Amino acid sequence: MNVARYFDEMSYAPAPESDSEARAWLKRHAEGFHHVIGGALVPPTDGARFDSVAPATGEVLARIAQGDAATVAAAVAAARKAQAPWFKLGGHGRARHLYALARAVQRHARLLAVVEALDNGKPIRETRDIDVPLVARHFYHHAGWAQLQEREFPDHGPVGVIGQIIPWNFPLLMLAWKIAPALALGNTVVLKPAEFTSLTALLFAEIAADAGLPPGVLNIVTGDGATGAALVAHPDVDKIAFTGSTEVGRMIRAATAGSGKSLTLELGGKSPFIVFDDADLDGAVEGVVDAIWFNQGQVCCAGSRLLVQESVAPVFLDKLKRRMATLRVGHPLDKTMDLGAIVAPVQLERIQRLVAIGVAEGAALHQADVELPQTGCFYPPTLLSGVQPSATVACEEIFGPVVVSMTFRTPDEAVALANNSRYGLAASVWSETIGLALDIAPKLQVGVVWINATNLFDAAVGFGGCRESGFGREGGREGVLEYLKPKAWAGRKPRVVAAPPTARRVEQRFATPALDRTAKLFIGGKQARPDGNHSRPVLSPKGVPLGEVGEGNRKDIRNAVAAARAADGWSRATAHNRAQILYYLAENLSARADEFAARIAAMTDAPPAKALAEVEAAVARLFSYGAWADKYEGVVHTPPLRGVALALNEPIGVVGIVCPDEAPLLAFISLVAPAIAMGNRVVVTPSERHPLAATDFYQVMETSDLPAGVVNIVTGASADLAKTLAEHDDVDALWVFNSAEVSAMAERLSVGNLKRTLVDNGLLTDWHDPAAAEGRIFLPHAVQVKNVWIPYGE
Ligand code: NDP
Repeated sequence: MNVARYFDEMSYAPAPESDSEARAWLKRHAEGFHHVIGGALVPPTDGARFDSVAPATGEVLARIAQGDAATVAAAVAAARKAQAPWFKLGGHGRARHLYALARAVQRHARLLAVVEALDNGKPIRETRDIDVPLVARHFYHHAGWAQLQEREFPDHGPVGVIGQIIPWNFPLLMLAWKIAPALALGNTVVLKPAEFTSLTALLFAEIAADAGLPPGVLNIVTGDGATGAALVAHPDVDKIAFTGSTEVGRMIRAATAGSGKSLTLELGGKSPFIVFDDADLDGAVEGVVDAIWFNQGQVCCAGSRLLVQESVAPVFLDKLKRRMATLRVGHPLDKTMDLGAIVAPVQLERIQRLVAIGVAEGAALHQADVELPQTGCFYPPTLLSGVQPSATVACEEIFGPVVVSMTFRTPDEAVALANNSRYGLAASVWSETIGLALDIAPKLQVGVVWINATNLFDAAVGFGGCRESGFGREGGREGVLEYLKPKAWAGRKPRVVAAPPTARRVEQRFATPALDRTAKLFIGGKQARPDGNHSRPVLSPKGVPLGEVGEGNRKDIRNAVAAARAADGWSRATAHNRAQILYYLAENLSARADEFAARIAAMTDAPPAKALAEVEAAVARLFSYGAWADKYEGVVHTPPLRGVALALNEPIGVVGIVCPDEAPLLAFISLVAPAIAMGNRVVVTPSERHPLAATDFYQVMETSDLPAGVVNIVTGASADLAKTLAEHDDVDALWVFNSAEVSAMAERLSVGNLKRTLVDNGLLTDWHDPAAAEGRIFLPHAVQVKNVWIPYGE
């Protein structure tokens, strides 16, 4: 072929990236890779190894060590031993190490990019230009957090030993997202890479050792799901950070329930890509390419549900099909390829199976007429159009280069369709009308929104989802908080619970009895009789009957949740408005301080002065959250692009709250006030033994302009009510400050909709200590951060 012919055809010639350095590295490990534990290379028990296969060719690249429980235990022990000295190194010392890691990644960028492309099958263009630069950026950014830790987070310490489990779709990038914040803040790590893609983690461990990372700070145990499960089960791991499928995320949630381990889950998605009729359609077509054909669509936040406004749908889909024809699929090391290989035959089969289901359910199939390599795991860019919102392919994560398209007529319909998913990871909104795009963004139930863009990531901007996409954030200040724990909660002691009193018979005399007042439930702004028409006695510690309260049951919780769900206007109310109502609650409680103090004294036998102090503290706490309501705001990030990312502190939705018995008024207020200050609606079960302060509070709420349904109170047996709240799929978060058993049950049963939980594991909080019970210690749990990316310019 001569130059003139190339010019005529404008076709690509092969442009292979050299893999010689990568091959030399693999050859050095031809005997098989080891685990990396405590700075040493540890062979697998009984020499057990498995193959790591190149998806593009089927070639066995390496033999990887299979980790078992004993290997995991050795790695956890090494991490434990290293943790205190690593933390003692101080912020600056750790910053220097993270900076060294960032520099080392940049020095070895080409090798890392090639090994990643070989091992995962993704195109070198992406590993070279996206994965590896983002990895370096993550270490630089978190070197900064290490440097600033002592000044920015003086009230927090590291969590300890972190178990991290990552998937195969971004093996090196997920490693960086996990280990950079963990190490920066003084934790040590045991990381298990995915079975399909262990190589870059092992290469990184070598690079890190050369860069002087102390032994035991980062331990890599390779293996399969059983190795991951052993890490999750290990009792000396303080936190599990997981990225992967929702199914395994659920198993991990259940396995860690009640263990005291903290948990972050970054799971699957079915993210909407919304194109309004005033969008730059050509720009949006390029957006779809980046949304679903980036990394062969094996991206948790892939824009896999294309929602196009009806009036432009035909022209848009036509443009998209023409663009699809120009995509190139082929060997990952060819620099001219847009798409590489699917990670493994099992994933390829899954994609094929789901596409066949899509067609059987009525979707129109369009596949790019592109040349696929003869061997290896390849799949063409695919569009399924005319898909019904209830179709399998519109609901299930395909995790391949397959986009499904639907149409909508109005912005409201777009939002309804977008939110019609059990997932809530990301969304992309395309419109040239900034007012429309910014109106839509807060209405989407997701953790990340890209406006006129897609798949933008940065270490300073948090990433993560809600609903079945998991909880927790990676990146940004919110991501840092996931690797810290409050010092004020570190020394909490187990709650000691006195045996319940037995009712004493009170002698009746011939006098006019007091009017019977059985406190009802408080649901939807009204006092409501319990569904079961049962009530339970409230006794003083000496067994003197003080009154009765309703015995709430499942049905009452369901009614309360429905009322809370309906009160969504509260989540849209201005922060100023919410603040005013919190102050008003404080004012009205203060006006009745003596009455509440007398009630507390009667219920708990507290001396009058102590009971009054509790009421005064509750008034002050309401004031504090009135103050916080319009001050715990988001931030504007300026990531490295022309544009901004707005980190919005949004309410979570409906929060279930299970109160303890101690400080019956103050604990109740300390839990309810932060939740409602941030715009959540709550269903609360007050102290089981001393509920009357909460039921007296109805009247305070009724006179304070609190909208109906914002606070719903169901009295009764805490454990039973907590169980219903945990199992309820319309409860978005659950806070349990009660016994260790109720905490464990709440975590275990929260797997249905993967609600966020905050539990005290039966450890006693000092509700009078603002450091332990007020403000920034609770507020992060009352919001979920949504990052809205807004690039600008032509
Ligand atoms: P998994 O969730 O199974 O794997 C993620 C990680 O968890 C891997 O390291 C895996 O090990 C490990 N693991 C598996 N089982 C357990 C367990 N019981 N306890 C602890 N760790 C475990 O994802 P798959 O690789 O099987 O992919 C299946 C589907 O998951 C995909 O089709 C896709 O839909 C989704 N997925 C979503 C991702 C995301 O980023 N949200 C990423 C990857 C997949 P091993 O690799 O050895 O099995």
